[in-house]
Amino acid sequence: MIKYDAVIVGGGVIGSCISYYLTEAGLKVALVEKGDIASGTTSSCDGNILISDKKPGFDTDLASVSQNLFKELDEELDYEFDYTKKGSLYLIESQEEWSVAEQFVKEQTANGYSMRMLDYDQVHKDEPLLADDIIGGVEIGTDAAVYPMAFAYSLIDKACKKGLKLYNYNSVEDIILDTKGQIESVLLSGGEKIRTTNLINAAGVWAPEIGRMVGIDIPIQPRQGQILVAERTRQIGRRKIVEFGYMMAKFGSKNYKRDIHPILEEYGIAFVFEPTAADNFLIGSSRQFVDFDTRVSIEVMKGLAARAIRFFPSMKNINVIRAYAGLRPYVADHFPIVSSVEQVPGFYIAAGHEGDGIGLAPVTGKLVEHLIIGDDINIPLDLDYAVQKLSFSRF
Ligand SMILES: Cc1cc2nc3c(=O)[nH]c(=O)nc-3n(C[C@H](O)[C@H](O)[C@H](O)COP(=O)(O)OP(=O)(O)OC[C@H]3O[C@@H](n4cnc5c(N)ncnc54)[C@H](O)[C@@H]3O)c2cc1C
Repeated sequence: MIKYDAVIVGGGVIGSCISYYLTEAGLKVALVEKGDIASGTTSSCDGNILISDKKPGFDTDLASVSQNLFKELDEELDYEFDYTKKGSLYLIESQEEWSVAEQFVKEQTANGYSMRMLDYDQVHKDEPLLADDIIGGVEIGTDAAVYPMAFAYSLIDKACKKGLKLYNYNSVEDIILDTKGQIESVLLSGGEKIRTTNLINAAGVWAPEIGRMVGIDIPIQPRQGQILVAERTRQIGRRKIVEFGYMMAKFGSKNYKRDIHPILEEYGIAFVFEPTAADNFLIGSSRQFVDFDTRVSIEVMKGLAARAIRFFPSMKNINVIRAYAGLRPYVADHFPIVSSVEQVPGFYIAAGHEGDGIGLAPVTGKLVEHLIIGDDINIPLDLDYAVQKLSFSRF
């Protein structure tokens, strides 16, 4: 029976990053993916790499380390993945939002992050097609974007060159433990059994299924998000643009209510704009718990369009060419689980990144390298704190 130092379950962006870093570290690694690479949530999302939607402190530090790893990966990988570093812009609709944004920017700049407030004239100069009544904005210098599927392919391409064994169109059917309860081998749908003492569960919203194979309950739930894709047009916005109102609850004003139609509130709709390399753009997004349903709905699509036109009125004359829905791997405290599991030695979880999996994939790959090999992974993060904060035992 063939033996690997590590077997990764799931070829989304998280499993791809882990594959890359573990093969780089010299391990003999296999990746098992039930479909093709990036056939799960990684093919149904946006590609933003943000610190702007993170709370000051550990949340931002983790995302910032990952942003910096993207710069290195851009140098290291061969296959083009549309990496752009244009920063991002938050739009402010009211004085109340302005005050919270100002406090947020003050805290983040004091921590050394590149952000600034834009007043009325500055924000309208920055984005000339904005609705007249937007009162200001926040510019975040370091935010970036990638094309997520290409990013995953790129990582796997390089990892395969370094010896990664890819078992795609092959699902993990069962995990076998030895008499001491440690990981011993993995049974694949093709009937093959492969040996390993380290199994990494990077199965996104399907991570709980893999957890059940070793008798543990992983608290990840699918949270659906829908996206509209617009036709190619003249440039509407230069870079990633988001409404700040939606971030208010996150940044401290839990009682803040946006002045929006109740239906938008019900579908969790907030305006998120992302231009693509092909000069069309994506409009998101919604947030709903609808189990594993990946169908789009007319009501949500109408809501997304209405919210986008509120910020950029000229969008009302632009056609949508397609729409899709993806499932965010949601964890109640909004932090991913990147962890060993005490009850099952050799079993690791790297899942539950909700709406941040693309941005946090590189730092997740590095942290898994640290957990498995114990390497000093040379990232500016308090590793003991990070391991504790993201641990499975917090549940
Ligand atoms: C609408 C939307 C917008 C988003 N926008 C952003 C954004 O701008 N920035 C950002 O950072 N994040 C964003 N996200 C979140 C991001 O897409 C996810 O966090 C990320 O893709 C999760 O990656 P993953 O590898 O954990 O999961 P997945 O990509 O789902 O990969 C898991 C893989 O496991 C495989 N698998 C499952 N079971 C098995 C099995 N038994 N055997 C073998 N393989 C198995 C699946 O086939 C799948 O390919 C967005 C998400 C959505 C839905």
